Amino acid sequence: MIFRKVSLAFALGASLSVPRILIAQAASMQTPAPSFSPDEVIPFDSAVTKGTLPNALQYYVRKNARPANRVLLRLVVKTGSLDEADDQRGLAHMLEHMAFNGSEHFKPGELVSYFESFGAKLGPHVNAYTSFAETVYMLELPTDREGVVERGLQALADFGGGLALDPKEIDKERGVVIEEWRGGLGAGSRIRDKQIPLLYNKSRYAERLPIGKPEVLRTFKPERLRAFYDAFYRPDRMAVVAVGDMDPATLEAAIRAAFGTLAARGRRIPRSRNRRWRSSASGRTIPSSASRTTAAISSSGCSTRC
Ligand SMILES: [Zn+2]
Repeated sequence: MIFRKVSLAFALGASLSVPRILIAQAASMQTPAPSFSPDEVIPFDSAVTKGTLPNALQYYVRKNARPANRVLLRLVVKTGSLDEADDQRGLAHMLEHMAFNGSEHFKPGELVSYFESFGAKLGPHVNAYTSFAETVYMLELPTDREGVVERGLQALADFGGGLALDPKEIDKERGVVIEEWRGGLGAGSRIRDKQIPLLYNKSRYAERLPIGKPEVLRTFKPERLRAFYDAFYRPDRMAVVAVGDMDPATLEAAIRAAFGTLAARGRRIPRSRNRRWRSSASGRTIPSSASRTTAAISSSGCSTRC
């Protein structure tokens, strides 16, 4: 019986839908589709509050009521493995790991235990990733617990400028990233090692997989990690994104409070200096759109966990 009812409904729907399609087709013939040019700038979402702090850090805030009582925070840093010198290969990713191993407001281990105390998962790979041209830190926090969002922003601000980079903690983390490199070995990596030089035409992309070089990871001096951090973790290379079930003006004020004092530590290095991507073999350049493949490439270059 049920089958018959369903069949009948389907038959009715099908018979009624034919004239509707014809009407829609006729209407579309009368009114031309809106023209679209690929050169047009996509309008910015008016629901997003955006701004720039005096230190040049940018922020984007948007109210989003679902899920209730949650906010998603991102610190986006415009740097990645492409900015590494030869003796720093793998250190952009190493820095991402060190964000969870001690900073100005969180002793080693304290950050993870604080956020896990209310059910948030924390740690490299869960809350961060490193790719060729960007490093992103992510937190999802409750908004119905006093002070948690402010503490989360403080943690992100520490990532941006207050990492301790203690040599003892660095030595502990070396083994973790080397194991990550080792875990990525296999048939897939052997194929990738053959493909990448062809796909990226001997460009800098081919030489700077985010996972880096094991010999560098084993032997780099802490000063080289600090040098990368000071050179590229600058407010003018950062943006904070906050979306969630929270008053945007309150969020904006919290961002200003957490990040307002962040200052550049090293001299500014123009991004163009590191864009030496011209192929020595053919003279062809890698188009800027190549950076769109970042996520796929970084996952293969930095093991499946990155
Ligand atoms: Zn990692």
